[in-house]
Amino acid sequence: MAYAAPSAGAPLQPTTIPRRPLGPNDVAIDIRYCGVCHSDVHQVNGDWGRELFPMVPGHEIAGVVTEIGPEVTRHAVGDRVGVGVIVNSCRSCDKCADGMEQYCADSVETYSDVDSYQGGERTRGGYSTHIVADEHFVLRIPDALPLEQAAPLLCAGITTYSPLKHWQAGPGRKVAVVGLGGLGHLAVKIAHAMGAEVTVLSRSLRKKDDGLRLGAAHYHATEDPATFEQLAGTFDLILCTVSGLSDVDSHLTLLANGGTMVCLGITEESMEVSVFSLLQGRTSLAGSQIGGMAETQEMLDFCAEHGIGAEVEVIDAAQINEAFERVVAGDVRYRFVIDTATMTAQR
Ligand code: NAP
Ligand code: ZN
Ligand code: ZN
Repeated sequence: MAYAAPSAGAPLQPTTIPRRPLGPNDVAIDIRYCGVCHSDVHQVNGDWGRELFPMVPGHEIAGVVTEIGPEVTRHAVGDRVGVGVIVNSCRSCDKCADGMEQYCADSVETYSDVDSYQGGERTRGGYSTHIVADEHFVLRIPDALPLEQAAPLLCAGITTYSPLKHWQAGPGRKVAVVGLGGLGHLAVKIAHAMGAEVTVLSRSLRKKDDGLRLGAAHYHATEDPATFEQLAGTFDLILCTVSGLSDVDSHLTLLANGGTMVCLGITEESMEVSVFSLLQGRTSLAGSQIGGMAETQEMLDFCAEHGIGAEVEVIDAAQINEAFERVVAGDVRYRFVIDTATMTAQR
């Protein structure tokens, strides 16, 4: 069973899909939960111009192994596992060799892609009850993490962990998180656990209590112009989780000397940036995309050790379309997670 969007912008509908027979390095997974990432909404809407329909979205997958191929060594039947945004890569380029499979030019996304390493198979994501994936792209979910809270870590968690680690969030470092949504709330928890002093920059103060509870030391509204005067030159690192941030320059003024603002939110539109915003303070504007397989495992282990899971609202499959509308409206605290058992029940 699965939920698929038949064409761009169309509501998702229940359907059945094939999964490939188990290959020697494959793991068959009984999917229990799948997170609803804002990227799913973008892609179902055809926002990025490269989507394949019908589309089964979902790349925040948590489940249990039901069968393994004869050459699988990392996973066993009964293991709690996850699958994130990619399910294959070339394994031979320097990015793959460096454990950065997410930047491999020939990586394969978990859905809406064609897997040339699997005979050109169309990939279909986690809004479904089962998946078969190569063991290299299957992660171990530590026992301390409930599966529904772990699912969003496979995209939102690693997308924020990787830049926090790369730009050395830690004690003595001031980190701002722009946008308190799926990515943002995990960025706050993870940056706080790394020891950084965290500030949330949200449009309003509506979610202030949550932000402070999640680990932020400070919380400011970006709709208040005084925020930008008060915080000018403050942050070593800013993670921007908003898609299509309109005033990049004013956010860059918040960086301390040598600071970096990392764009995580995705938009098909170009950004406007004044070079003055970068050279006054030798600041950097960067981007970052999910994380490699070894780093994703490291993130899951880090989250288990620090008791970090996503704050989730578990939904039935029949509520997926309504959940999409609520994600667009910013009406979720902080991740919808589909209980895939409710798909089977409909059969
Ligand atoms: P989300 O849960 O919807 O959160 C986005 C946040 O952006 C909202 O909570 C909101 O925070 C803020 N926002 C600012 N302007 C908004 C507006 N006009 N409408 C709605 N929200 C607005 O989304 P997400 O799942 O965290 O994903 C965020 C972005 O990251 C998406 O573009 C997604 O495609 C992208 N993404 C990128 C990667 C990557 O590898 N780089 C991975 C996953 C997702 P406040 O209410 O606090 O202002
Ligand atoms: Zn995602
Ligand atoms: Zn590669």
